[in-house]
Amino acid sequence: SNRVICGDVTFNDVSFEYPGTDRPILQNLSFRADAGETIAILGATGSGKSTLFQLIPRLYDATAGSVLIDGYDIRSYRQESLRKQIGFVPQEALLFTGTVKDNIAWGKEDASMEEIIKAAKAAQIHETIVKLPRKYEAVLGQKGVNLSGGQKQRLSIARALVRNPKILMLDDSTSALDLKTEAILLKALKEYKCTTFIITQKISTAIEADSILLLEDGRLLAEGNHESL
Ligand code: ATP
Repeated sequence: SNRVICGDVTFNDVSFEYPGTDRPILQNLSFRADAGETIAILGATGSGKSTLFQLIPRLYDATAGSVLIDGYDIRSYRQESLRKQIGFVPQEALLFTGTVKDNIAWGKEDASMEEIIKAAKAAQIHETIVKLPRKYEAVLGQKGVNLSGGQKQRLSIARALVRNPKILMLDDSTSALDLKTEAILLKALKEYKCTTFIITQKISTAIEADSILLLEDGRLLAEGNHESL
């Protein structure tokens, strides 16, 4: 269906193996995120963090168990409608040769300048943009402006925000930011009121989250907030 989502996410005993393999990557994961909450996901490399992420916009479906959004199985949503409401920021920012403005509005070409600026401000990249020679019209790429890793990350967060997502997924997308900028950014995200999943290596980020999921070898080792863990 094309239901407008609110952003509650529930994993019910979810297990997963990649198609064509029989190695379990996620095993019996259960947790719940209420709409608007921030959930930090921690775990060693290879523990399954990115795989867990992929189950939410349905890049893959759980092999066993179910993922629910607002109490409905995600398989009952039209994939296109679901993905429109989820902002997914990959580990590596995928920017193209084109203006800053078009890079932010990619996938939402009808975004107004006001929405673009609002997203750039929340992503803490507006100040950088307005210092560029042609500001939002500056062209990125080899013959244009080259941004730093952290600036690219913030631009791709702005791209996700401009769609007003109900669920925002940050796959280590703040790794190149200094702690202060990251803290300001996470605070600014609250204005968007989306459920935010953030894969992070940083304890400082996890501490700010409403809840922390700690993965080990595809299992949920612990769940709670920083006080209870
Ligand atoms: P990192 O912190 O390094 O990004 P991660 O915790 O996000 O790691 P995943 O990327 O989810 O871990 O990988 C979990 C396991 O799944 C790894 O053993 C990986 O080799 C395996 N894996 C990932 N993608 C695929 C795939 N497309 N097909 C088969 N196995 C995969």
